[in-house]
Amino acid sequence: MLALTHATLLDGTEDMAPKTNQVVLVDDDGKIKNIGADDEVVIPVGARVVDLDGKYLMPGLVNMHVHFCGSGKPRSASGAADLIGKVTGSGIGRMWLRSEVKKSAINELMSGVTTVRGVGDPVWADVAIRERVKAGKVTGPRMLCSGWGVTPPHGHGVGLIAQVCETPDDARALVREIFAHGCDLVKLFITGGVFDATVKGEPGVVRMDLDMAKATVDEAHKLNLPCATHVESADGVLLALKAGVDTIEHGAPMTDEIRELFLENGVGRASSLTTTISPAIPLARMDPEKTHSTDIVKFNADMVFNGIVECSKQALEAGIPVGLGTDSGCPYVTHYDMWREVVYFHELVGVSNAFALHTATLGNARLLHVDDVTGSVEVGKSADLIVTAENPLDDLEALRHVETVVMAGKLIEHPRPKHLSELDPELDEILHAKTTPEAEA
Ligand SMILES: [Zn+2]
Repeated sequence: MLALTHATLLDGTEDMAPKTNQVVLVDDDGKIKNIGADDEVVIPVGARVVDLDGKYLMPGLVNMHVHFCGSGKPRSASGAADLIGKVTGSGIGRMWLRSEVKKSAINELMSGVTTVRGVGDPVWADVAIRERVKAGKVTGPRMLCSGWGVTPPHGHGVGLIAQVCETPDDARALVREIFAHGCDLVKLFITGGVFDATVKGEPGVVRMDLDMAKATVDEAHKLNLPCATHVESADGVLLALKAGVDTIEHGAPMTDEIRELFLENGVGRASSLTTTISPAIPLARMDPEKTHSTDIVKFNADMVFNGIVECSKQALEAGIPVGLGTDSGCPYVTHYDMWREVVYFHELVGVSNAFALHTATLGNARLLHVDDVTGSVEVGKSADLIVTAENPLDDLEALRHVETVVMAGKLIEHPRPKHLSELDPELDEILHAKTTPEAEA
């Protein structure tokens, strides 16, 4: 048994309910057994006691959007597709890919992410690593995996993280294959993205038609798999919601029609928005040469960036659930920087520190339907916890230095994510510029 004592506890609820001098007891099967004041909780004889000395103990972070196959090292989109094309064709290549997925998953955990959802990865490498984590062979986070995404001809992610479907029947067949491989969700690519846009002002051209989107969602829901959808334009969001998807990834400024569809959508599966500022902000703010951006990419990146921030604000105002994800694997988005997304959410969307933390923990866990097991510090839930020396309610950057991670009861002291150290100063520059999109426009 593990006893974390003298903790300042932030529990995951909307105001994070800070409480000083708390004890959290974790039993041998990794669940939280008791929580209470230091002078009230009896610590069983033989328990391992970790005195937190007033440090901040909170739920592990939940990251709703990553691609495990990429590290965040900047590459052009065509370079990445070439690489994946080469490696998926050979046994050694697929082994290499699994080792990359494993590294990414471990980095997520070492940076304080105890639950992570993959939304598009090749050759079922994500599922393979998830199984090794489940079997206790790899110390990793709780992983939800999509496997290959579903994309139409010339769609986003072709060959890289998605497989092409020519017809709605193809899409249904691919969904059944995704299910057969044991995936946890289905990822659809409805619009294009910043890197495959050919015209200024059109980063989110609709590429999948409603018939294919509906067929995909229908087949997935029959198999009880939720659907996450890549969309970067209002037209795309509208089509995705009409098809009945569960989560809109990225987003675009909303119309009244979109707002209503969001709120009414689904049968017991209200659609939510996943805000992802991390992949958009480097393209919008950094030197285009560094990010391999052409004029078109830069222009469209600004548009997507502003659209994502605007959409997030509109959703919160309308009472549409908003989750947070990093899109790790994209250029300049590492697997150890979930904290940056939390800071961006606070700085750019304008939510309080407490609400940003809640969103990154219990809020995200609810949207992933894993809140019965994780996302808050509550008796009976898995002990998925992190410790910081500074108070994230005062400054969210406290999350940058996670001193201890507890994953399903397993104590990891001084976790060390592997950094792409050449990226850190550049990302810090963006972070500390702290300009709002409006101010720039
Ligand atoms: Zn993505």
